[in-house]
Parts: sequence; structure tokens; C-alpha cells
Amino acid sequence: MRIGFIGLGIMGKPMAKNLLTAGYDLLVYDIVSESVSELVTAGAVAAKSPRDVAAGVDLIITMLPNSPHVKAVILGENGVIEGVRSGAIVVDMSSIAPLAAQEVAAELEKKGAIMLDAPVSGGEPKAIDGTLAIMVGGPEKAFEKVKDVLLKMGASAVRCGDIGAGNVTKLANQIIVALNIAAVSEAMTLATKAKVDPELVFNAIKGGLAGSTVLNAKMPLILEGNFKPGFRIELHIKDLQNALDTAHEIGVPVPLTSQVMEFMQALKVAGKQKDDHGGLIQFYESLAAVEVRRNA
Ligand code: NAD
Repeated sequence: MRIGFIGLGIMGKPMAKNLLTAGYDLLVYDIVSESVSELVTAGAVAAKSPRDVAAGVDLIITMLPNSPHVKAVILGENGVIEGVRSGAIVVDMSSIAPLAAQEVAAELEKKGAIMLDAPVSGGEPKAIDGTLAIMVGGPEKAFEKVKDVLLKMGASAVRCGDIGAGNVTKLANQIIVALNIAAVSEAMTLATKAKVDPELVFNAIKGGLAGSTVLNAKMPLILEGNFKPGFRIELHIKDLQNALDTAHEIGVPVPLTSQVMEFMQALKVAGKQKDDHGGLIQFYESLAAVEVRRNA
């Protein structure tokens, strides 16, 4: 089976490589030619445009930054919509606004193509291991058809509802992750300034109720001062903006989300928007004039 893959960034590259390893033929496209070359070396075939990708396959996967990129790649000039076959399935795995996913799906439907929104959680390490958590919205039948392919990139793929439900689930995920990072940062800044070794605090609490996947994933990096992405702060700002817009549109106040959004905005002003979102701790560190690092 041949699959089209568009968007070969931090996440898309290892996800596409896992599909190659699983034995699928891949037709790939990205605006960055080095990324395409890397996939061609791994066994994929390069396409000239999203339109070319769509013309050659019945299953197209996209992994792009945000709603405008997905709209441009699917609905724009030389976009997927110009080449898409009737009956084809488009699986957008980017994290975008639920409303945008619904708009793109409606346009594809006019060409007889079906769209699923299927954003992921787990970050680059789980993309490499093929153990992402995949949250899906869209027609059940289409989901059943592509589930085996999704499970080559993820450890789980759960259909949460109709088109857009995947991204609503992802927004919930991103709120929980952002607030968790902020909680870890606040607590560890306090401990460090109180002259208690933050690594010992981590070891003491990780098995208790305060333990979390976020704590386990981010604390070792914080202790090293390693804020290399991973998941960039600018992408988390994008997700929180989508969360705020969606929440306000349907009448849901999200006070904690809006506060953490402002912490991230402050880091952006400080030029740290390309740091990993674990770098949120730098906001707290600057407030308290202390650095949460491993004791030398
Ligand atoms: P990235 O910026 O590393 O990759 C995006 C890729 O899309 C790049 O290779 C870029 O060149 C390509 N692209 C942009 N516009 C394009 C266009 N018009 N045509 C073709 N290619 C185009 O981002 P990423 O970290 O891989 O994230 C992708 C998506 O996955 C985002 O929505 C992000 O929020 C989500 N996500 C990321 C992580 C993470 O840890 N990085 C985790 C979960 C979800």
C-alpha cells in the first residue's frame, strides 16, 4: 500500500520513517528539501507538490504546524484538493483548531474524499518509538480503514467523535500538559530557593500523587538546563490560543489556561519561543532569581 505524507518536521519525519519500516511505500512532500532528501534516502519517493502526493495515493497523511498551513496544503494552489481521488482518505495529524478541521473536511467532501482529524500526544521520543497517543475525529468507517496504519505510529488510536473531536481532545490534552509544567515549575522553584536539592525533591515525590508523565519527562531536562525542543514554546502558544478561542466561542471560561498563556508570552518576548515547553520554568526562575539545576 502506498501512502502520501506531507510535513516532515520534528514529528512527521520519524512518523513517516516508522511507516517505511512497517513496509508501506511512501510518497512525501515538504517545503524543506533536506527533510525530503532524508526520507528519500530512507526509501520514500519525493513528490513535487501536495497535489502530486494526492494524485498518487488513496491515503494522505499531513503533519503541519497549524490551521493556516493545513488549509494552504490541502485547499491552496497545487494543494491536495486539486489532485485528490474520490474515495481517498485524508488524515490530518497536526494540532489545529477544531473548526478549521471541520472547514477543510467539508471542502474535501465536495471531491468525494473523507477527512479524519487525528492529532497526537507524546512528542518526538514517542514519535520515534512509534508509541504516540492518537486522538481521532471523523467517520467510524474511515477510522476503521486506517486504524492499522495509525497503530504503526502510535501505541493507541481512539476515535473520540465526529470531525473536529480529535482536535478538541488535543486541546484538552494541551491544557493539562501546560498547567502541569507550570505546577512543576512553581513547586521546584520554591524548593530550590528554600535550599532543598530539586533532584531529591523529584525523587521523593515522583511515586506519589504529585507524580506525572510531565514531571518524569521534563524534570531530568530541567535539572540539566536542557531546553532543546522537543515541543517548542511557540507551538504550545499556538495550541493554547486555539484552546482559548474554542473555549470562548462556546462559552467556557478557562482562567488557568489564560494565565499560563501569559507566562509563555513573556518567554516569547524574552526570545525563548524556540525552547522546549519545559523551558517554561525559566519564567519562574526569573521571578524568583534562582535556577533549578542539578547540584554540581
Ligand atoms: P515542525 O515545525 O518541526 O514541522 C512542521 C513541518 O511542516 C516542517 O517540516 C515544515 O517545513 C512543514 N511545512 C510547513 N508548511 C508547509 C507547507 N506549506 N507545505 C509542506 N510542508 C510544510 O513541527 P512539529 O513539531 O513536527 O509539529 C507538527 C504538528 O504536531 C504541530 O501541529 C504540533 O503542534 C504537533 N505536535 C508536536 C509535538 C512535538 O513534540 N513536536 C507533539 C505533539 C503534537
